[in-house]
Amino acid sequence: PKDIKLAVLGSGRVGKSAMIVRFLTKRFIGDYEPNTGKLYSRLVYVEGDQLSLQIQDTPGCLQVQDSLIQVVDSLSRYVQWAEGFLLVYSITDYDSYQSIRPLYQHIRKVHPDSRAPVIIVGNKGDLLHARQVQTHDGLQLANELGSLFLEISTSENYDDVCDVFQHLCKEVSKL
Ligand code: GDP
Ligand code: MG
Repeated sequence: PKDIKLAVLGSGRVGKSAMIVRFLTKRFIGDYEPNTGKLYSRLVYVEGDQLSLQIQDTPGCLQVQDSLIQVVDSLSRYVQWAEGFLLVYSITDYDSYQSIRPLYQHIRKVHPDSRAPVIIVGNKGDLLHARQVQTHDGLQLANELGSLFLEISTSENYDDVCDVFQHLCKEVSKL
């Protein structure tokens, strides 16, 4: 089977670990170790193709008010390793939305010669009462950066989580 290496990046508490576990087990589990850099390996089928999928979870300590460059540097080895990226923010956390652009720029700097596929994900779509980031903010950013955008709820909608990962797998396997 073809190897596919994905990394999930974004600020702390946006739901990166929850998304990965939801995709791989169908289950939504409320709490995870906050700073895991865990690597998940799984054989998956995407449109009939068997893929040997590796998903790198990343520590969620990124904060916009930190020295962003330094924090992003600590993610460098994950960015170097991966071929496709999920950039995740929470619709309830404007700072997490603002961290997407520098992460994207970092990816493009590390992979200057490839169009490593990137999907931007606005997570926690169920928490509408606490929304700080509008859907059009996500769309606008994604348009500008030339990447796909989806607003999802990891807790409420397994199918959307699945779509995100499967779409990214397809994009990477086309490379
Ligand atoms: P990470 O730091 O980015 O890995 O975030 P986690 O996966 O640890 O999730 C942080 C918190 O957000 C946990 O309490 C999760 O249960 C919660 N969470 C994750 N996704 C969703 C979602 O789609 N909706 C809601 N309501 N909570 C979520
Ligand atoms: Mg986590």
